[in-house]
Amino acid sequence: NQPSATKKAIITGAASGIGYATAKLFIEQGFIVGLIDANQNRLETISKDFKHKGHECYYRNVDVTDEISLKKAIDALTDSLEGLDIFFSNAGINGTWAPIETLTIDEWDRTLNTNLRSTFLCTKFAIPHMKEKGGSIIITSSINGTRIFNNFGASAYSASKAGQVAFTKMAALELARYNIRVNAICPGAIDTAINEKTTYSDELKEIEIKVEFPEGDRPLKNETGTSDQVAQSVLFLATDASANISGTELYVDGAESLL
Ligand code: NAD
Repeated sequence: NQPSATKKAIITGAASGIGYATAKLFIEQGFIVGLIDANQNRLETISKDFKHKGHECYYRNVDVTDEISLKKAIDALTDSLEGLDIFFSNAGINGTWAPIETLTIDEWDRTLNTNLRSTFLCTKFAIPHMKEKGGSIIITSSINGTRIFNNFGASAYSASKAGQVAFTKMAALELARYNIRVNAICPGAIDTAINEKTTYSDELKEIEIKVEFPEGDRPLKNETGTSDQVAQSVLFLATDASANISGTELYVDGAESLL
């Protein structure tokens, strides 16, 4: 049996980037983690590595847009963890960046479903496991969720990220009665695999729209942020260090969003 003070956390998008960095940090803190991702190979490798280092770790290979599988995974992981204190809804994609005129409805739906619908589902399925003792839900939005840059073509991504911020605030208000806190993290540009997986439509080039954020424009420093920096902020929102904070969005962006 696990000691009751041990924090139990589920992380989606845990096989890469911000999710993986957070899993590593949580484990260093002595938390027990349940990992959710659609990348089976990476999940296997990561969980073997964690176990090899003597840490308890569970995982489920699940598509976060699949309601039934996601619910089963969250229930099963909570059973294995013997409780749930922290839920990090983080899995996401950039999707296809294209002018609204040519962006397909399928691509719109894929982006909104992966980023926003999944956050609703994760929250919905975490509540029953948290409502007795309270807990902390953290949602990875983006600076794109509150501030529109010149990343033309990102209408679906920005809408999904803005939706996550609005959802965070509504959920914080609604779940306060269970002592469940809900907060969003808004990273700026972070060096992860997500950027390589973005599809830029040819039409964007035709209308000469700049899709890259200029590297030199970050007020705090000129380097891209790291997943480890974001993970430290997630840890803050996950623990009692942030006990009086709910319904907020925390920027981890080198002050990019102030430009
Ligand atoms: P990443 O690509 O490194 O990691 C994302 C993970 O999510 C991957 O392991 C992927 O397999 C998983 N995933 C994607 N779709 C899934 C699905 N349908 N079901 C299950 N798992 C799925 O990217 P990252 O940068 O670490 O992204 C994490 C979050 O951070 C995303 O929500 C993203 O929008 C947000 N974000 C990233 C940046 C950035 O610059 N990297 C900036 C702002 C916000």
